[in-house]
Amino acid sequence: MKKILNIICITCVLVPLTYSQSFRIKRPVLNHIQTNGSYLYGEPRYGNAALAHLGIDIAARYDTIYSATSGVVTFVGYNPNDTVGGFEPTGAGNYIVIRSEWSGTNHFFFYMHLKTPFVNQNQTVTLGQPVALSGNTGNSTGPHLHFEIRKGSSSYGVNRSRRNAELWCAIDGMGAIYGTVPNAPNSTRVDITPDPKPRPPYTTFGYALTYNFNDPYIGSDDIYGENYAIGDVKPGTYTIRALGGTYTRVVTVTAGEIVNADASVGLFEEELLPAKITLFPNYPNPVYSSGMNGGSSTTINFSLIKEGFANLTIYDITGQIITELFSGFAPLGLSSFTFEAAGLPSGVYFYVLRTDSEMLREKMLVLK
Ligand SMILES: [Zn+2]
Repeated sequence: MKKILNIICITCVLVPLTYSQSFRIKRPVLNHIQTNGSYLYGEPRYGNAALAHLGIDIAARYDTIYSATSGVVTFVGYNPNDTVGGFEPTGAGNYIVIRSEWSGTNHFFFYMHLKTPFVNQNQTVTLGQPVALSGNTGNSTGPHLHFEIRKGSSSYGVNRSRRNAELWCAIDGMGAIYGTVPNAPNSTRVDITPDPKPRPPYTTFGYALTYNFNDPYIGSDDIYGENYAIGDVKPGTYTIRALGGTYTRVVTVTAGEIVNADASVGLFEEELLPAKITLFPNYPNPVYSSGMNGGSSTTINFSLIKEGFANLTIYDITGQIITELFSGFAPLGLSSFTFEAAGLPSGVYFYVLRTDSEMLREKMLVLK
């Protein structure tokens, strides 16, 4: 879904702008996937939950790195230090920093672990200009590009200054998904099916992790305000689940589009909910009061289209109450109850659901 903003210019011409839902910068290594088994943005580093991975890792051996933006090179240097608490950026190896303005604010783009920088400090670069050869320098376990975005300042210790590059650039033809899992602890796993990545199926991170700022330097996007993001998503329809399935989203992504997984939630819930109050057939039916065939209980479900009063009562064929299974305030959606038939004589029984607006009746068979 593209958000179209109509902006009235001074010349009074209506200009439709695709504003917030497309990628802002270019991929620094063209069409290279992220590394397999890398740290995700915001993922704890060195097993330390308070120390997050501040960028994304893109698979590149000794490949040309292109500037993701037009800007000015503010730093070219080397940092071998891989000690936590050392000078920053720790273990970056050869790295360059390019400053670019976006939406009136300076942003600093860090390219780390380079083999050879091609640019000098204070040099102006254009979008797509080759700026380095990637490598494996500094604290790096294999050749890759660590790409990091810092908003407002290039300094390490600025709170909430990092932005997730997965929402800023993508492989050609890919999209991205973002959302907010409510009340998610840091690094809550957000699963997505089918595998969205443009490569053979892999095992190490076909998922995202939430970031909720154990590390104060991690930030959410100014446009999206997300706490998870999935980049390089092939066009298609996906199911996203977190927190044991309590957060479930169905999202369709097209090429070049950044989709808010939570925007579809209203529609999705409407589709899931039945249009009317439903009293479902009990299961199993018949139920054996002697316990043969695996037990003497049966499950009775009903579903409400809005929360409210409900009463579920079991009767025998003469209209005598056997038991009141539930009476009270029931939630929107499915409610589930177990009816214990042990010791009951064989026969036909009824269960009746009463709400403020309706009465529904179903039949069950009890056998000894
Ligand atoms: Zn990295």
